[in-house]
Amino acid sequence: MKRIDLHTHSNVSDGLLSPRDLVRLAADEGISAIAVADHDTVDGIDEALEAGGEFGVKVVPAIEISVDHEDGSLHLLGYFIDHHNPDLLETLQNLKRAREERNILIISRLNELGYAVKLEDVRGMSPNGTYGRAHIAEALVASGYFSDVGSAFDALLNRDGPAYVDRYRLPLKDAVHHIHNAGGAAVWAHPGTHGDRLERLLDRLERWKGYGLDGIESDYCNHTMQLRDRLRSLAHQHGLIYTGGSDFHGSIKPENTIGSGPEGEEIDYKCLIRLTERVERVRSAKSTP
Ligand SMILES: [Zn+2]
Ligand SMILES: [Zn+2]
Repeated sequence: MKRIDLHTHSNVSDGLLSPRDLVRLAADEGISAIAVADHDTVDGIDEALEAGGEFGVKVVPAIEISVDHEDGSLHLLGYFIDHHNPDLLETLQNLKRAREERNILIISRLNELGYAVKLEDVRGMSPNGTYGRAHIAEALVASGYFSDVGSAFDALLNRDGPAYVDRYRLPLKDAVHHIHNAGGAAVWAHPGTHGDRLERLLDRLERWKGYGLDGIESDYCNHTMQLRDRLRSLAHQHGLIYTGGSDFHGSIKPENTIGSGPEGEEIDYKCLIRLTERVERVRSAKSTP
């Protein structure tokens, strides 16, 4: 059976490896297909596709977008998107602007609280120009305020922390629309990370299906087999597909090993087949008025 991984990050968002090195690692690990799904950006896709040709790995152009729904927020994966689609690019540009405004607000809160971090320090932590709370935390560590990034989050940057500022997110329905418009399929990422709120969210699946949601990431690295099986059968019940991935980021998240699904199992190759079929459906629905 061929190994796949439908959820990985490069250093174009918060992963450690460049898109090229990420694809090369996949090849070294015997992975035949990999989705590069950076947060709110498609800037790594061209490099990844080129590396895919070089190393003999099928690269699925993807994205992971943080979205709002009626009861909180979630991560939405967009698969097989046309990463040059003008509508998608404009949307991502707007999100980037919102994120920058939020970073500035967080930094000014930190300054009010007596932490002398500057925007330039934080920008220096992110070579690719996309930066966020993780990079702000790194700047706080570099300035000697905290011994590690985790403590900076705990003391200041977590949702209930004194320097936390909420940010603008796309509504789920709109994000699904933009993904479909770019010819891709939209999948709810890692439902298991919602903890005890999961049950409430699962009750919303029918509604989200109405928004056009295509699938659920059941075979997520940190899910138990029990949760995987439950999400797979819910997907089936609702006429959705299921996908799987490791959420590989590099050594900053060592438990998310490339190519690994729930409880260290390999990710089912069928996920890729079903995803491909689903994308064809999305595209033919788009072309039929
Ligand atoms: Zn995520
Ligand atoms: Zn992710």
